[in-house]
Amino acid sequence: MDSIIGLKSGDDYKLFISLEKETEALKERLFELYSLYALSKNFNLSLQLNDLFSRTIDQLKESLRIEHFCIMLMDEEKNELKMRKEDESTCKEAKDVTFKIGEGISGIVAETGEAILIQDVSKDERFLYYKGKIPSIGSFLSLPLKLSNGKTIGVLNIHKRETNAFREKDKMLFNSVAENIANTIERARLYEEAQRDSIIDGLTTLYTRKYFIESSYKEYSKAERHGELFSIVMSDIDNFKYFNDKYGHLFGDEILKKLASILKSNMRQSDIVARYGGEEFIILLPKTDKDGATLIAEKLRTIIQKTLTVKIPNENIERITITSGVATYPLDGKTVNEIIAVADRFFYFGKEGGRNKVINTIVTDRISTIDEKRLNKRYSTALKIVSSIINQLQSIEIMVNNNWKLCAIKDISKKGFRGEIEFEAKIGEVYNGKAALFSEDNLRDIFSVRIANVKRIKHNRYEFGGEIIGGFDNWNRLFKLLPR
Ligand code: GH3
Ligand code: MG
Ligand code: MG
Repeated sequence: MDSIIGLKSGDDYKLFISLEKETEALKERLFELYSLYALSKNFNLSLQLNDLFSRTIDQLKESLRIEHFCIMLMDEEKNELKMRKEDESTCKEAKDVTFKIGEGISGIVAETGEAILIQDVSKDERFLYYKGKIPSIGSFLSLPLKLSNGKTIGVLNIHKRETNAFREKDKMLFNSVAENIANTIERARLYEEAQRDSIIDGLTTLYTRKYFIESSYKEYSKAERHGELFSIVMSDIDNFKYFNDKYGHLFGDEILKKLASILKSNMRQSDIVARYGGEEFIILLPKTDKDGATLIAEKLRTIIQKTLTVKIPNENIERITITSGVATYPLDGKTVNEIIAVADRFFYFGKEGGRNKVINTIVTDRISTIDEKRLNKRYSTALKIVSSIINQLQSIEIMVNNNWKLCAIKDISKKGFRGEIEFEAKIGEVYNGKAALFSEDNLRDIFSVRIANVKRIKHNRYEFGGEIIGGFDNWNRLFKLLPR
């Protein structure tokens, strides 16, 4: 050793140099192995694709000291390689470049599953410089992203500005990196798929029951903590078995999809609309009280009745309707399960009572045997909620600016009613009103109502008391239909 340190002779010097080289090589190898280890560890942790991509990019840059690279994945439908969005940080210029299988070096690697190393790309005609988008490449290493089962899912390309910048053994080293990346991507894909399936219903693309329950529990804890409320609307397609049996299951599926899209497009972003079971749908309405939720459920019921029709060749137009139950926390129950159970019971009553209804309470015998004296009082509170199975009255609509606006009825009497509407009615003004009945869909007699008082409940919801001042015959006919 002395002689080496002292650099005594030419032979000693050669030995020193060769030992030094070996140590360097060993260090380098150790570093590479460590980097691979770190990379794999990272991969094992990372199950989300987006996250995986950004981690991989950082890791490749830092540990393996490669700056210019990109991952191109196979688009099975189009049979071409393309870059992922997350990867743009390293290969921005080529973000829109795609390669058909067999096209360019990447396409060949994807086709053959074999790595290709080119020390001087200017001498290789197959090289396309990402279709001219990245001209400053000297040497290029393209590795297949191959799964353990041999399937190639894409390529990992590493480029350097200089020519001859790779060592032959880099091919092997980066092959194991690529294999690692491939298997991790696949795992992340499967994981994401499973995640998606547990959140999104495949047929309707609404949320799943599982996701709904989880969201409801979250809303419940918030509501409990802050003394807030929330409502749940449970809806079920009427006579769905009939449609399935008559026109087939595929037709039934189409109805489910159409209905789902109507529900989705009519709800707010913050509402959770889910498929609860076969043809049952459920909606979570955060911070929404019973009347608000009833209004929404009524609106949905009306829209579906009006728009969800199907025309079958040589058959009549079929009209699809739903029946819904509306339950509210904490009014109807103290737990999520209780609220769901109550909503369930309500819609069941709606089915019993003839379908195509919204039920938000069950009028007990006690309430429904209202004495005439109380009913004659203005805005009597004797009849709590009108939309109930034993009532004939389905909803009242008020004409506002040439549009019929749905109005939730709170109390009703011979001379008027108290309602809630998404419109600021002015005291003293007179509006035309009409009622929809369960029994005769077309009986929509007009009466006029004068606003006696108005109270703002929420930003766009107003409670008002209205006196009937015209169309008395119609109103009386309607009133007689109410339970005694
Ligand atoms: P009701 O008005 O009382 O709700 O009558 P219904 O016929 O809708 O009720 P029932 O519960 O008896 O039938 C539900 C039917 O829904 C049974 C099944 O054939 C159908 N169904 C459930 N899931 C699916 C689905 O994913 N696709 C199709 N096409 N049909 C489904
Ligand atoms: Mg049904
Ligand atoms: Mg059902």
